[in-house]
Amino acid sequence: MGAHAKNPGKLYVVATPIGNLQDMSPRAVEVLSSVPVIAAEDTRHSKKLLAHFGVGTRLVALHDHNERSMAGTLVQRLGQGEDVALISDAGTPLISDPGYVLVRMARAAGIDVLSVPGPSALTAALSVAGLPTDRFRFEGFLPPKQAARRQRLAELASETVTLVFYESSHRIVDSLADMAGCFGASREAVVARELTKVFETVRAGTLGDLCRETGEDNRQQKGEFVVMVRGAAMDETAPDEQVRRTLAVLLEELPLKQAAALAAKITGVAKNRLYEYGLKIRGT
Ligand code: SAM
Repeated sequence: MGAHAKNPGKLYVVATPIGNLQDMSPRAVEVLSSVPVIAAEDTRHSKKLLAHFGVGTRLVALHDHNERSMAGTLVQRLGQGEDVALISDAGTPLISDPGYVLVRMARAAGIDVLSVPGPSALTAALSVAGLPTDRFRFEGFLPPKQAARRQRLAELASETVTLVFYESSHRIVDSLADMAGCFGASREAVVARELTKVFETVRAGTLGDLCRETGEDNRQQKGEFVVMVRGAAMDETAPDEQVRRTLAVLLEELPLKQAAALAAKITGVAKNRLYEYGLKIRGT
């Protein structure tokens, strides 16, 4: 390479379909056709997708096991003026998919990182669930081992915003059972399966019912899943008696924010939870 500094290339982060090929955007095809190289999670898988759209661009593999070294190589090429596109097997890169290291390195090197947005199972599922979406908490995949999974769920039990999980066919029944155990069988939930595909189903009900129905029907255990759980109702988040008394005493002397912060220090209960609870008792 010559000594002249060229304008750096751009990194395009490109979403691809989560099942239905017609969801590929014209801009995604245009960008993927025009860049000299595409970084893909699984090159064999992506080659087929790209062939469908007549895109013959060279692919390099960027996955969890080589991301650091490959990201270094790609950022070097970007620095030399070459554009690069990043895709994952399906949906939006970085959403429970590789790409974080590359995007971070590119940004740190002053490279423009541009989004070519499109499908993601996360937003597709939320958009049809009929659960509150003004705030939600995306938890990605739960830990595969049961003890760790239950521990994570226990930590989430008093979260009041909608919870969103990705799940695979191997663990859907076990995860629903653990959710029913940790959040209560009567908590409302929605299971979105095979979105945009032939066997798409979106089922709403209580965690107890969804767990039983999914367990009894093998067909409902196949494919890819997004599980969404309604946040805890305020009374489920009420802290125990002693914590409540501490907060109440502090609230007599202090504004809510300070009272919640101090009560959190004294009791070890999360500040947000105390703040939410304080709002509730102050409002009554
Ligand atoms: N980056 C992707 C995205 O934007 O949705 C997600 C990748 S993650 C490795 C794969 C998980 O996403 C699956 O196990 C499933 O939980 C969810 N998923 C992907 N496609 C889906 C679909 N068509 N229907 C339901 N869930 C899907």
